[in-house]
Amino acid sequence: MTADHILGVPTSLPAVNIDTVYKSFGLLNVLRGVSMAVREGEVACLIGPSGSGKSTLLRCVNHLEKIDAGLISVHGRLIGYQERNGRLHEMHDRDVAKQRRGIGMVFQRFNLFPHKTALENIVEAPTQVLGMAKEAAVAEAREQLAKVGLSDKANSYPSQLSGGQQQRVAIARALAMRPSLMLFDEPTSALDPELVGDVLAVMRELAESGMTMIVVTHEMGFARDVGDTVAFMDGGVIVEHGDARQVISEPEHARTRAFLAKVR
Ligand code: ADP
Ligand code: MG
Repeated sequence: MTADHILGVPTSLPAVNIDTVYKSFGLLNVLRGVSMAVREGEVACLIGPSGSGKSTLLRCVNHLEKIDAGLISVHGRLIGYQERNGRLHEMHDRDVAKQRRGIGMVFQRFNLFPHKTALENIVEAPTQVLGMAKEAAVAEAREQLAKVGLSDKANSYPSQLSGGQQQRVAIARALAMRPSLMLFDEPTSALDPELVGDVLAVMRELAESGMTMIVVTHEMGFARDVGDTVAFMDGGVIVEHGDARQVISEPEHARTRAFLAKVR
């Protein structure tokens, strides 16, 4: 037996496997056969023009959208489906919710509860959803706040925090659920330029801690320096996918080159 097969789980399996995924909204074919594998601990950056399907793809991974065809698995488990008697069945909502707990998502807009403090925002899901004891959840929340550099803001309300601080609370809140995968959808796009760096620094640290991440971003510096891989999406397909530096510095496809010329 090799180290790859401890407990019979082949660790060489990708952490995320997106296999020939299709998704339409009415007549609009938004994802047109997207395949992408993300290794354990990989930071996969997803770039591409507005409307190319990046958010939809992330939302499908989290089952916020249901795919029309193809398969998505996270850590070897199919998203939204269960295998019974050799057939795939749609999961019950309850099981979908359970599956979703293991996947953290951070959006462009921070979506914090406005009437709760930073600490209360983070404590909410672990206590309400996971049934964690209050004291343990508070201790965990303080730990997560320290990680994002906001120990001194535990009792502040969102309105008392800058956009960058709110986004760091949103990251801490996602991490408090101990996810095995983190999805970021343009987490710095709504921020004033001077606040972007602090959020990216938190994401970089998270990446260095070994978290598997899929990051939709227009921050090419981040994609090149922190990303392991970059996938360029256009018109619902992945046009180019490879080593982050390679794709950003020496893109192969004309469409990737044209896009990069515009965002740089
Ligand atoms: P991106 O994140 O790359 O900008 P999106 O995935 O948000 O792209 O959107 C891709 C396309 O799908 C866009 O044309 C968008 O208007 C459309 N779209 C996204 N979500 C929905 C929806 N819920 N209903 C209808 N159209 C949608
Ligand atoms: Mg988007």
